[in-house]
Amino acid sequence: MPELPEVETVRRTLNQLITGKTIEHVQVRLPRIIQKPDDIRMFEILLQGQTVETIERRGKFLRFILTDYVMVSHLRMEGRYGLYDVEDPVEKHTHVLFRFTDGSELRYKDVRQFGTMHLFPKGEELTQPPLHKLGLEPLDEDFTFEAFRDRIAHRSTKIKPLLLNQEYIVGIGNIYVDESLFLAGIHPEREASSLSKKELELLHSAIIRTLRESVEVGGSSIKSYVNGQGEIGLFQHQFNIYGRQSQPCKTCGREIYKTVVGGRGTHICPTCQPLKKTRTRKKLEK
Ligand SMILES: [Zn+2]
Repeated sequence: MPELPEVETVRRTLNQLITGKTIEHVQVRLPRIIQKPDDIRMFEILLQGQTVETIERRGKFLRFILTDYVMVSHLRMEGRYGLYDVEDPVEKHTHVLFRFTDGSELRYKDVRQFGTMHLFPKGEELTQPPLHKLGLEPLDEDFTFEAFRDRIAHRSTKIKPLLLNQEYIVGIGNIYVDESLFLAGIHPEREASSLSKKELELLHSAIIRTLRESVEVGGSSIKSYVNGQGEIGLFQHQFNIYGRQSQPCKTCGREIYKTVVGGRGTHICPTCQPLKKTRTRKKLEK
C-alpha cells in the first residue's frame, strides 16, 4: 500500500504531467471507485471543462485542484495513474479515463479496485469525509516537536498503532512506522505515555528523516508500486528493519525478529529497541 512518500512521488509526477490541462470528457467504467457524488453521470459532467490548477496531497490522499472543484483520490492498495495518448489501447483494469483537450488522457488503473475518488466544490473537501479528521502532516512546517508531543504523549495506547492512526499523524504506514521506531530505538509496544521527552524527540526527528529520505528517492516499491512516470522507487534498498526478519541488525548485529503488534506485521531488534528495560527505568524515575 502506498504510504506518504509514494503518494508524494505520484503527486509530484502528476503535477509535472497534467497541470494546466483542461478536461474534455470523463468516462467511469467502474462506478464503485466514485464515492461522491452518488450519481456517476454527474461526476463525469461536473468535470467537463475543468482545468487542472495543481495537485496537492493530504496524508495519503491526492487532491486534484481544478477550476471549480477538487477531486480527492486515494490509491489504496494498487491504484495508479498513467498519462496516455487518446489513441492508445486501453489496458485491462482501467476504471476511470480523463480525456484532455490536447489529446492526452489520464487513466486510472486499479487491479484490486479498492481505490476511491470524491468530488467536492472547491473548499468543501477539507470539512467532509474522507479528509475532515486527518491529523498532522509530518512533512509540514507545523509538525513541530510540541505539536507531535501534544498529540501523542499522554495516550495510553501502544506507540505503533497510535502512529498508524491517521487521525493523529497522516501518511505513516506499516513500513515507515517500523523504520522510524527502529531509528528512535523504541519498542513498538511501548505505551505512548511511557516515552520520555528524549525518546519523543528522537521519534519525532526519526519520522521526519525516514519520510524525507524516502521522498528523495521516489518512495519504495514493495509489491507493484510504480510512480506516475513508470519509475520504480528505490527506498526499499535502504530499509534498516522492515522486511529484514532473521537478518542481523545493521547497528548491533543481533537478529531482527518479526511479530504482530496491533494486528500488523512488525519488525524489531531486541537490543536496539528494548521493551522491559526502558519501562523499569521509567518506573524508577517516578
Ligand atoms: Zn540492533
